Amino acid sequence: MASEKIYLSSPHMGGTEQSFVNEAFKTNWIAPLGPNVTGFETDLEQYLGNGNYVAALSSGTAALHLALILLGVGRGDEVICQSMTFSASANPIVYQGATPIFVDSEPDTWNICPSHLEEAIKDRISKGKKPKAIIAVHLYGMPYKVEEIRNISDKYEIPIVEDSAEALGSSYKNQKCGTFGDISILSFNGNKIITTSGGGALVAKNLQLKEKAVFLATQARDNAPHYQHSQIGYNYRLSNISAGIGRGQMEVLDAHVELRRQMNQFYQEIFRDTKGVTVFSEPSSAYFSNHWLSCILIDETHCGFSAENVRFALAENNIESRPLWKPMHLQPIFQNVPYYGSNISEKLFEIGLCLPSGSNLNKQDKLKINDVLMRFIDI
Ligand SMILES: *Cc1c(COP(=O)(O)O)cnc(C)c1O
Repeated sequence: MASEKIYLSSPHMGGTEQSFVNEAFKTNWIAPLGPNVTGFETDLEQYLGNGNYVAALSSGTAALHLALILLGVGRGDEVICQSMTFSASANPIVYQGATPIFVDSEPDTWNICPSHLEEAIKDRISKGKKPKAIIAVHLYGMPYKVEEIRNISDKYEIPIVEDSAEALGSSYKNQKCGTFGDISILSFNGNKIITTSGGGALVAKNLQLKEKAVFLATQARDNAPHYQHSQIGYNYRLSNISAGIGRGQMEVLDAHVELRRQMNQFYQEIFRDTKGVTVFSEPSSAYFSNHWLSCILIDETHCGFSAENVRFALAENNIESRPLWKPMHLQPIFQNVPYYGSNISEKLFEIGLCLPSGSNLNKQDKLKINDVLMRFIDI
């Protein structure tokens, strides 16, 4: 019997999502506004705490784009961005006609390296341009070095855009990821920790900023009976149907974080005694990762097999795995962009692998994964 494919991270419904969607149909709120949009925003605001304001948007990418616009990023500006990330962190810089400046990772959290960040800022300033923003990412749900990055941001007075697309449910010193930036963003794409099929959010520190984001996301219409515009607008609001899925997903978010963390534990146990294989985990108890994806580093010289060997073996058994994010400074599209770093992210990309991590993987799936991985360990 052909078994079903095991995915890296697939949507996992909790059960009540459809009733919120049905309610939208029943009340004819089939629009990019309505009770589910407002309800989802309130759910997220309560979850994040700390007096944050949430604007529900059509994607995390849209949220990043609006964050840069709200920070006044425009043509000719420079914006610092973590190099090791998904391209969506960096693309909105280019949408604004600005230039990305890529910065390497540090080995503890795999996120933006404080010392290379400061080196980059100093060098850009010495070349005549102070960067307009710092985009820091919590990769795979692991919080970046929150305090170090904040100190540098304060010292040079450059705001942080916190890309928390992968880190809803993670926290640092008991404060939720998605609340550390001057502006923060979340994603609810199909593969994220919770999904609205597609969607995102911008997290603001005050109501005026949230309202400005919503204004820009709904075509920047001035207050007039006719359609009047004094700014360029966007169509970036979340659908009331999608937001209904989000409301249902919020009910199971913490339970799903716990299940993802159990997947990480599952891999820790498999590789506990394997020299050369490390399962990515929190550097200290200050960090709490949602372990959106569980990742391993494989040092072939110690264990005799490579990340590619493991990826192929899993693929042969219909199990999905994937190399880590390829750093932006190695991407063909960004080959002429300035980069500050050593080769930490390059090395991580070379030896890393993301393993199936979904909260919906069952006992049988785990047995199958275990089976394939154990073949490597037994050699
Ligand atoms: C998914 C993701 C995004 C983009 O979110 P979308 O909702 O897919 O547009 C941005 N940054 C990171 C790090 C992501 O993983």
